[in-house]
Amino acid sequence: MIIDCHCHIDFEAFDSDREQVLDRAQQAGIEHLIVPGVSADTWPRIKTACNQYRNLHPCYGLHPYYIDQHTHEDIVLLEEWIIKEKPVAIGECGLDFYLKDLNKEKQIAFFQAQLEIAQKHNLPVVIHSRKATEEIIYALKKFPGLKGMIHSYSGSYEQALQLIDLGFYLSFGGAITYDRATRLREIVRRLPLDSLLIETDAPDQPDLKHHKQRNEPAYIKNVIVTLNDLRNEGTDAICNQTTANCKLLFSL
Ligand SMILES: [Zn+2]
Repeated sequence: MIIDCHCHIDFEAFDSDREQVLDRAQQAGIEHLIVPGVSADTWPRIKTACNQYRNLHPCYGLHPYYIDQHTHEDIVLLEEWIIKEKPVAIGECGLDFYLKDLNKEKQIAFFQAQLEIAQKHNLPVVIHSRKATEEIIYALKKFPGLKGMIHSYSGSYEQALQLIDLGFYLSFGGAITYDRATRLREIVRRLPLDSLLIETDAPDQPDLKHHKQRNEPAYIKNVIVTLNDLRNEGTDAICNQTTANCKLLFSL
């Protein structure tokens, strides 16, 4: 059994064939998908998709990529949604310091606010972090006991160990299938299996075999094959442990 821990199945990229994509996911052995929200206007369609299809699990949050459009009202609304809809996590939230035109101060404020809601309602957080791992660790230290995952982890090995200490899982996807990702592959090779999650981030971040194509959950097989190439633990052990990790984190 496999869980795709981070999949944007609600995105427009899947509007024409969502059902077929989910059929292929099921045939590939994927039993559950975690569907993160990126902005308040996407939450209703996630709710609809999760009601319509089996084993999709919603998260609601405000992604830093859309920081310009988020308002204070969205934070108020988020807490209302959390109480009413009971998602498996808050997210996708976080910090993106890679894209230079995203307001840093506003990103930090919205990230903090979402961590506060997560702690208050005892929910895990799904975190997006690009060129911001140090800032993420700094922010998380103010919320002891909070749990969550860093999706598509791209920080250092040492930072990964700090995040594990703080109660976080590191999630990896298509990026590790590229030979040139030597630094990332070395990190994922060394981390303890009980701290790892696997994801596709579909429709984004396709693996090497689907380079420049739309990504989809069934392609997670290639992530598992690469993980086994790097770690040699056997694909069954990798699937079983990452699935157990994911179920524990999201209380599935
Ligand atoms: Zn995402």
